[in-house]
Amino acid sequence: MTAAATPNIVVPESRGATLRLDCDVVVVGSGAGGATAAATLAEAGLDVICLEEGGYHPTAEYSADIPQMIAKILRNGGATAIMGRSPVPYLEGRCVGGSTVVNGGMCWRTPERVLDTWVNEYRLEALSARRLEPHFEEVERTINARYQDPGSEGPNNDMFKRGADRLGWKLSKNRRNQIHCVGSNDCVTGCPTGAKQSTISTWLPRLYARGGAVYTHCRVEKILQEGGRVVGVAGRIVDLDGERRFVVRSRAVVLAGGAVQTPILMLRNGIQVKSGQVGRNFTIHPNVKMAALFDHPVAVRGAHQAWQCIEFEHEGILMAPGLIPLAFQSVAFNDFGPRLAQRMRDHEHIATGGILVDDHASGRVQVLPFGIPLVRYDVTDEDQRRFIQGAAYLATLYFEAGAREVYTPFHHFPRLRSPDDIRRMKAAAPRVQDTEYFTAHLMGTVRMHGDARQGALSPDGQVWDRPGLYVADAAAMPGTIGVNPQVTIMALARHIALHLGDRLKSRAAA
Ligand SMILES: Cc1cc2nc3c(=O)[nH]c(=O)nc-3n(C[C@H](O)[C@H](O)[C@H](O)COP(=O)(O)OP(=O)(O)OC[C@H]3O[C@@H](n4cnc5c(N)ncnc54)[C@H](O)[C@@H]3O)c2cc1C
Ligand code: SF4
Repeated sequence: MTAAATPNIVVPESRGATLRLDCDVVVVGSGAGGATAAATLAEAGLDVICLEEGGYHPTAEYSADIPQMIAKILRNGGATAIMGRSPVPYLEGRCVGGSTVVNGGMCWRTPERVLDTWVNEYRLEALSARRLEPHFEEVERTINARYQDPGSEGPNNDMFKRGADRLGWKLSKNRRNQIHCVGSNDCVTGCPTGAKQSTISTWLPRLYARGGAVYTHCRVEKILQEGGRVVGVAGRIVDLDGERRFVVRSRAVVLAGGAVQTPILMLRNGIQVKSGQVGRNFTIHPNVKMAALFDHPVAVRGAHQAWQCIEFEHEGILMAPGLIPLAFQSVAFNDFGPRLAQRMRDHEHIATGGILVDDHASGRVQVLPFGIPLVRYDVTDEDQRRFIQGAAYLATLYFEAGAREVYTPFHHFPRLRSPDDIRRMKAAAPRVQDTEYFTAHLMGTVRMHGDARQGALSPDGQVWDRPGLYVADAAAMPGTIGVNPQVTIMALARHIALHLGDRLKSRAAA
């Protein structure tokens, strides 16, 4: 076994006899939920091991070599899509730090109206705004949620702000988990400057400080059960050199592989609750991209989403600038042939932004015979109406900011040359199956609910009727929240881990 340069990150040999470990709590996954839970449990005095399927990549390894970075840190090299009326591509981080390594860094608390619903309709009193307040504060402090340094936003954000200001639309300044971000626009392939505060530089050092460890390249496949209790996990250490088995025995298991991988792992192990809720209630905050051609350079550098336009939040529509790195633009654009070639030549003059809809549909993660996963979600006609309305708003904003042309996500209406075209686009009412979507927010597949008939997790995060098994990632979210979810996930993970820590300590003392 060899240790990585950073203490407590263990890179196990992938050849040899089965690796056997014991601890109080084993955490599966080191992303937003897993790292928060692992650090919190270790600080409660418990012996914690965090198992991560991906590798460890320190700041020095992140580079502009996008194909190499994608292969290193994204699951399936980023080639993942949800099936449905229109396929929805999505990304999941697969590395130490999980999706927090590849995310855009926006930091939003769960809106209070959402928390009120969780308390009143989901019977989750512990998730009230008042009771979560200390968790939000601790999360924001730990991940350094703050505003950008002046001048780092870049012209892509500036154009968005200019359009919104001219229209008098309400903007909200985003806090991001970063320290002195220079706006290099590499967030999706990992921050090369160390500015982004993923769990690698925030929660995980807190785990190490209390003696906890992350084991890399450990893919958990089995959830071990004895006498109706969950007693550990097993799987394979896989790297380019080979493959080796591992077994970790523990007093409790916390699953935090993300809202797609966690239910797949549970279902492959035959773990379903009586109500059949594992894998259901899958929400994804679908979004669409728009682009706008300006006469002057607006792209290349800049931070992700320094602003959001919240003027139409009451309609469930959020708009934000989001600079798409050049290497991704050819697939992000709804175009082909000579027109696409021209757009790529114009790329420095093209601003990009997106529309996020607080979705009303819910999909499902299933496991078919032979363990084959199926991830399904259908965008509804109601949400599609909001996408069309959102596209109309964002096109209006870009024309107001001085754009010459605006590019849409709708196959049969790809290009708007004037505000008149916006009216024509709305009248054409593009269909779901003729629209390009994307998502980075996967939630709710093992949801928490105070009523065992309607959820898969109890209010303290334990899988109903499965002692010893907890979930502390995006899968645990009771429902959709309409804003970027990492702060919510971390706050929930902290709530679950503090509760589990108390429980294990009081049992040991008894
Ligand atoms: C491109 C992108 C941009 C985003 N931008 C933002 C943003 O700006 N703001 C925001 O709030 N949110 C953002 N998000 C969403 C946010 O990052 C995720 O919601 C959050 O990280 C999910 O946390 P998680 O713990 O559920 O899973 P993850 O953070 O994805 O972590 C799961 C980890 O578990 C590991 N794992 C999975 N299965 C196994 C297994 N069987 N064995 C061992 N390990 C396993 C994975 O390799 C991964 O490292 C973005 C996401 C993406 C992909
Ligand atoms: S935009 Fe900022 S946070 Fe993102 S990769 Fe560049 S320096 Fe890092």
